[in-house]
Amino acid sequence: MDTTKIADILSGKNVYKRYLEFKESQWFSQSELKEIQLNKLRSLIYHCYENVPYYRNYMKKIDMIPSDIKSLDILKEFPIITKEIIKVNYNDFTPVNLKKIKGVKISQTGGTTGNILMKRNDANSRSHTWGAYKRFEDWMGFKTGEKLLRLMGGHVIHKHNLKSKINDLKYKVIYYLENSIVFNPYDTEEDVVNKIISTLIKQDIKLIRGYPQYLYNLCCIMERRGIRCKVPIIMTTAEPILEEHRKLFKKVLGSESYDQYGCGEIEGIAFECSSHEGLHITEENVIVETDENNNLICTDLNNYSMPFIRYYNADQLIIKSEKCSCGRAHRLIGKILGRECDYIIGLNGEYLHWAYFWHLIFDSNIAERRDLRKFQVIQNSRDTIEFHYVADELSSDEKNIIGDNIRNRIGNVNIEFIQEKDIPNSKSGKYRPVINNLI
Ligand SMILES: [Zn+2]
Repeated sequence: MDTTKIADILSGKNVYKRYLEFKESQWFSQSELKEIQLNKLRSLIYHCYENVPYYRNYMKKIDMIPSDIKSLDILKEFPIITKEIIKVNYNDFTPVNLKKIKGVKISQTGGTTGNILMKRNDANSRSHTWGAYKRFEDWMGFKTGEKLLRLMGGHVIHKHNLKSKINDLKYKVIYYLENSIVFNPYDTEEDVVNKIISTLIKQDIKLIRGYPQYLYNLCCIMERRGIRCKVPIIMTTAEPILEEHRKLFKKVLGSESYDQYGCGEIEGIAFECSSHEGLHITEENVIVETDENNNLICTDLNNYSMPFIRYYNADQLIIKSEKCSCGRAHRLIGKILGRECDYIIGLNGEYLHWAYFWHLIFDSNIAERRDLRKFQVIQNSRDTIEFHYVADELSSDEKNIIGDNIRNRIGNVNIEFIQEKDIPNSKSGKYRPVINNLI
């Protein structure tokens, strides 16, 4: 039996069923996809009208009832919502029938800025997300159960309470069942890097999942040492993959690279197919719009526990007008303008990925406790790091937690904490969580 089916039975989801539907709908025409979207949008808005006070009030105000929905154009009548709007009106975004919705999970999401939102999703929305992901595995040529190497960010601060231990155990079981080997990319010491390289050489790894910049650094080391190996697929996430990354992955690892795009609030928005002409929008699950400044506005058609209708997530992207040569009609995201990401370089030669700081402020609960909206780490010299933040003032204990963790990683650097009213984006309009002026 496919392990997805077993996981469905254990978790109350129906990923496999969705996957079979997506396998079929990947060849649907644009008009067929729009019909799916309209039917789903109608049901979602009906649910919102009945159960979600924010939308019920809004629709009453503009004199709209669900039966008015005749085309997708109705979306334009809905307001664009942001994380801030949801946070201010949190109770009004909570469905009154929440207890009747199956498998609701609450988790915190922060995006790259660190601005926290307690988001909910439900078993149905997760099934759709993972169903689309499983279709993406088909596009990459990966089969469930083949060996996977995960080089993804883990926890920075290890808590020793029972909940954390149960969670750690849960992930150990999941990784065992999915046949994956895991390394923490925040460990950049030479012996960890050597272990990863040795794993790549000795094990029959089919797919690596990781951050493009981390993998790029790893491949640079392998290139310098004259090491080559064969890993058919690289799947990148969380930051833009550049052409130079893809070229080096091909040269050193012989890999085809595949990118995906989503955000903490709405996952699985788009996936790259084997034609590599862009990322196909999962039109069965989301309606993607962009405004005149290329800002993404996204509607999640499946999440009834926390409806995101016309959600502005602060990312910018370009949607291509050309169709993909693979024959699928799902529109292509040609470029994610997203974020520019740097590393901090330590006194000991180690480097810290931007996501390390992100995990640190979340794991320590500082983001939540101090209502952190944005942070930025700047390195101007080898021995001093500036930690800029938009939040309530950090206590000396909190500064010590951040400082000690960073120093444990990269040596005895000075850390200056600077509280800001706002942290502007770079001239290109991109938010940069880490700026390294040494590079
Ligand atoms: Zn394609």
